[in-house]
Amino acid sequence: IGIVDYPDVAEDSATVINALEYCAAESKRLGSNEPCRCTEDMVQAIKRKHRIADILRSTIAEDGFQIHYQPIWSIPRQRFVAAEALCRLTSTELGPIPPAEFIPIAEQTGLITSLTGIVLDEACSFVAAYLAAHPNTSFRGVSVNFSAVQFMQSDLTETVLKTVREHGIPPSFLRIEVTESAIAANPDMVHAFMDDMNAQGVRFYLDDFGTGYSNVALMLELPFDVVKLDKSILKAASAGHQTCLFLEHLVACFASTGSFVLCEGVETPEHRALLNDCGCTLMQGYLFSKPLPAGEAAALIAAHDRSE
Ligand code: C2E
Ligand code: MG
Ligand code: MG
Repeated sequence: IGIVDYPDVAEDSATVINALEYCAAESKRLGSNEPCRCTEDMVQAIKRKHRIADILRSTIAEDGFQIHYQPIWSIPRQRFVAAEALCRLTSTELGPIPPAEFIPIAEQTGLITSLTGIVLDEACSFVAAYLAAHPNTSFRGVSVNFSAVQFMQSDLTETVLKTVREHGIPPSFLRIEVTESAIAANPDMVHAFMDDMNAQGVRFYLDDFGTGYSNVALMLELPFDVVKLDKSILKAASAGHQTCLFLEHLVACFASTGSFVLCEGVETPEHRALLNDCGCTLMQGYLFSKPLPAGEAAALIAAHDRSE
């Protein structure tokens, strides 16, 4: 049961309906039989969510997202070898909206399919432009984040490959980031998708490793090129020797299965030294660069780029 005070808390019929829907979902989520009373704060949060969904719809229609690229540094090669595409949303009304807020809304509203399509297209275009300007580069590509819900899309393989072909880039220059929770939600579909894409040369990164329910058996079965350790692991390792030892073994363990380990959230020279000691050679974080607009990211990557 949902209770909404009209007109004190919700002042019109649309707000009442949205608030009741929210209450029903909350009750279901909590599994309680208690009535859920919608507070003013809840109504404000619901309104913001609906507003962001509208902003997402118009931004998709206008192709108005900003895509930023965060370069990935290789210690042994002393250069940026890849970059991650990260979506940015700014509205005149609400200002910058963080991905942690708008991505879940895009997922709940089904808009994530179009959003990823745009990010994918931009990322391939970034690679094509970079390769055209630096034909002998040692830069190896851009990764794009995929959400769990996308793996329900039956023509996902064809859609992704079509974009890669349209930009004329080698498929190995596209990397797809998947989280453990996305895999857990749909293991068979993700596995089939990864096998199909891998056969075409597209590579995969396991994102945010260490934050989900690690099904190690499944992780080892899947063909990941790179395992990205979540920044929380680095925080723990900086605080204690045990985690550092664990990290060292983790890097060796993934290396033995053919995967490289990359650490996210590298912010200080101490982080970098610690990771170096653990044998982790791929790093991403503010110490090297924050996510940058395409032109700036390309210039930074090019500044360190040397052909072999
Ligand atoms: P993620 O894929 O794990 O991306 C890394 C996040 O860490 C980014 O946050 C990045 O800006 C941030 N970061 C990078 N270096 C550092 C550092 O040194 N310290 C700290 N504290 N943070 C750092 P951002 O851009 O806010 O994105 C958050 C999450 O939103 C991403 O986490 C990803 O899960 C999601 N996301 C962003 N863009 C997309 C997208 O196009 N599609 C999908 N499905 N998800 C996206
Ligand atoms: Mg990512
Ligand atoms: Mg991550």
